[in-house]
Amino acid sequence: MAALTDLTIAEAGAALEKGDFTARELTDAYLSAMETARGLNAYIEETPERAQAMADASDARRAGGKAEGPLDGIPLAIKDLFCTEGALSTAGSHILEGFRPTYESTVTQNLWDAGAVMLGKVNMDEFAMGSANITSHYGPTLNPWKASSGDNAGKDLVPGGSSGGSAAAVAARIAAGATGTDTGGSIRQPGAFCGIVGLKPTYGRCSRWGVIAFASSLDQAGPIARSVEDSAIMLGGMAGFDPKDSTSVDLPVPDYAAALTGDIRGLRVGVPAEYRMDGTPPEIEALWQQGVAWLRDAGAEIVDISMPHTKYALPAYYIVAPAEASSNLARYDGMRYGLRVEGEDLTDTYERTRAEGFGHEVQRRVMIGTYVLSAGYYDAYYLKAQRVRTRIADDFKAAWDSCDVILTPTTPSAAFALGEKQDDPIAMYLNDIFTVPASMAGLPAISVPAGLSADGLPLGLHLIAPAFGEEILLRAAHVLEGAAGFDAQP
Ligand code: GLN
Repeated sequence: MAALTDLTIAEAGAALEKGDFTARELTDAYLSAMETARGLNAYIEETPERAQAMADASDARRAGGKAEGPLDGIPLAIKDLFCTEGALSTAGSHILEGFRPTYESTVTQNLWDAGAVMLGKVNMDEFAMGSANITSHYGPTLNPWKASSGDNAGKDLVPGGSSGGSAAAVAARIAAGATGTDTGGSIRQPGAFCGIVGLKPTYGRCSRWGVIAFASSLDQAGPIARSVEDSAIMLGGMAGFDPKDSTSVDLPVPDYAAALTGDIRGLRVGVPAEYRMDGTPPEIEALWQQGVAWLRDAGAEIVDISMPHTKYALPAYYIVAPAEASSNLARYDGMRYGLRVEGEDLTDTYERTRAEGFGHEVQRRVMIGTYVLSAGYYDAYYLKAQRVRTRIADDFKAAWDSCDVILTPTTPSAAFALGEKQDDPIAMYLNDIFTVPASMAGLPAISVPAGLSADGLPLGLHLIAPAFGEEILLRAAHVLEGAAGFDAQP
């Protein structure tokens, strides 16, 4: 039998149901795998006692015939952006040093209510700002994959960001699945870099309550998992209306796993001309064409579409996101939680706390954000970016007249080496070129591992669907996954 930690959520859930092993045995297998994989620095805090107690409770429920469903007894890693009662919740930042909330985020509470087990909190870019998991106060997380050839052969690689700890943990089999959050690509890009599936749901599908805010109009929680089916199962456990989040949408949560019918005959797949950017490496372009061929062979109809405002998405995102971040992060003043650096007076204490508590990338975003929101520049930058955002959403609206989903690459490259692009924010921001437009429009999107680069690293394909089109998105992703047959492991 395969190692327990190699099973997908669906496989482990079926085996638990049959009584092949207990949730406690499954959890213990993950806890010992976590010990041997500490070199990846994926976990900020491991919570073994809590995990074992939750697993025992799951076994007791099942013994009493009261198991909750497909997530009961499944061990998960939780991105450190989610507030978890009594467990460290730092957003990867020094400024939240030692913060242990007295409450639980709605998404994690939903998962515990579904019977899932918490293994611990996983590393991330500070306040979810980044694409490489290198801005964390707790140090970088490493990608479990290594390049087999090329300039980066054998080097430590980044797992992508900001949900880098989540993606590395799932790929390294030290979590069966993980929560992530995606503001501009932070679930999909690390999913692609680590060879696993990353799903960003529609804005409003999962509650943001108890998720430490980065850019409130963009942030959305979603699953990181080893298969499309696992993503469907996890999303079912995470999603739902929450009266505590006024942007959460009151729609029933469908049975997402039931949407995976394998049949996409007649599905119209849009291929946007404007995503064919200068400088995209030939192997990314080739994989994209391969994806088109796979979907066509499965009976889909391929449609050429045009999304003329695509090129403005990234610059507009890097105005809107920092603007919202600068406002959200104003609350970290050393008075209420986390770090306080005492100064001469109140203002000095604020300044010292924020200077010491926030890392460079966060400070850069706060400065950009306050600048674009300032009286003299608001119209020129922030308002204009908001207008561009509307145009981007209009591009998608027009596209849905002729297609049901859109196919693009997930990232312009495979995982890069630790230290690369570190001093060049623009190069780093370009990682999000394919993922940001869907974020700006609030649409659901997924990255599916689809092949290996010439250097032996995973590459992802990206599907986007209309708002609340998660079922069609997952159905198409499932077919893509089957056609790609990606079974390589780190
Ligand atoms: N990499 C993007 C950024 O740094 C996206 C981050 C995210 O989605 N949280 O803003």
